[in-house]
Amino acid sequence: MNDFFDCLVIGTGPVGMVAASGLGKAGISVGLIGPEPNLSRDGRTVAILDKGVSLLQSLGLWNEAQKKSAPLIEMRIIDDTGSLFRAPPVTFRAHELGLDAFGKNIELTDLVTSLSLILKTQKTIQWLSDTVRAFERDIDGQIKVELTSGHNVKCKILIGADGKNSKVRDFADIKTKKWKYPQNALTALFKHELDHEDRSTEFHKRSGPFTLVPLNGRRSSLVWMTTLKDAERIAKQTAENFARSVEKQAHSLLGKMTLESEIGLIPMSGLSTDHYAKDQIALVGEAAHVFPPIGAQGLNLGLRDIDTLLKSITHELDDQALQKFDRDRRRDVKTRTMAVDLLNRSLLADYIPVDFARGAGLMAIANIKPLRQFIMRRGAGF
Ligand SMILES: Cc1cc2nc3c(=O)[nH]c(=O)nc-3n(C[C@H](O)[C@H](O)[C@H](O)COP(=O)(O)OP(=O)(O)OC[C@H]3O[C@@H](n4cnc5c(N)ncnc54)[C@H](O)[C@@H]3O)c2cc1C
Repeated sequence: MNDFFDCLVIGTGPVGMVAASGLGKAGISVGLIGPEPNLSRDGRTVAILDKGVSLLQSLGLWNEAQKKSAPLIEMRIIDDTGSLFRAPPVTFRAHELGLDAFGKNIELTDLVTSLSLILKTQKTIQWLSDTVRAFERDIDGQIKVELTSGHNVKCKILIGADGKNSKVRDFADIKTKKWKYPQNALTALFKHELDHEDRSTEFHKRSGPFTLVPLNGRRSSLVWMTTLKDAERIAKQTAENFARSVEKQAHSLLGKMTLESEIGLIPMSGLSTDHYAKDQIALVGEAAHVFPPIGAQGLNLGLRDIDTLLKSITHELDDQALQKFDRDRRRDVKTRTMAVDLLNRSLLADYIPVDFARGAGLMAIANIKPLRQFIMRRGAGF
């Protein structure tokens, strides 16, 4: 086993694997450190938008995953808050942006499984199935990584893709803000009676968004954000009762629902950092930004981190490239974190002026085509 790499990527979630692959393809010797992917099926899916799919395709990472994914051709938002200023439903259509689909929805487990199989065949990457215990800076300017197995490896550049509790971020001493939302997300997969017509539907409810996203066949994934107590209670329901609750919340939009997976229960939190890179270290994915699952933004932002990182390399992956990466990521990450946070808090507010502003905003988006196209472009990461 090598004990020196140009670059070590810590974390084997989707972002770490794609980052390692992209850097390896750029001719950099990469060590990827992290456990084998967790294959439990907790009903979590990710909608990967067109630009993200293009990145995966360009890196040769999409062929297998594609077979398990379903297109997302329309995205509908329904104000279900019961507010006095309820806006009419807004539908975004991919063809308004000249696209066949906004993107593809895939089970997270299917995505990470297919990525891990491809990565194991990539010659410029060595996957060390281990976890990091500690980091240290050497006097020779390299970073030493101590693994739980007792083995040590060194690198010139360290990439933190180790998720929201990132040890790399702590080691880099990057200032971080963390917060919690009074919500949990329930996740699950369903079969249903009626066609979803490749359309996702996001009901905006008082306790948060309730979203059904199309999967292959008459199947959809659910992300239901609701109060901590309600979510815990609902997660304990029998499969039949849970499916009935979901059908009721969806106003029987897809007819009778049948649960097809375990029920996932995920606490909602947020995180933002002052910098995305510092002194030979860069952060990508949830190591750098976390927000609630609204509008399919989280992983897509992580994929854009990788795209920017790869484009920042002019000669080699060095501090100069990382400084450019840091500058270029600021606006995109900050605006999206703020937009998702604002929308989520506006639902929870139950305050007439806030309801009015949200209703007026949605009404304007529904009726003003250039505004709708602008929002779609921003949402899709253009
Ligand atoms: C309910 C829900 C629905 C979502 N839907 C969407 C969606 O539709 N579209 C979208 O774009 N995003 C979505 N997201 C967000 C998306 O799931 C995340 O942004 C993405 O999965 C984060 O990936 P990551 O690789 O950055 O982090 P993670 O998946 O958390 O990976 C971190 C990795 O680091 C490893 N690790 C941690 N510590 C160490 C250590 N010390 N040593 C070695 N390895 C370590 C872990 O084992 C793990 O493999 C959703 C999120 C939720 C909660």
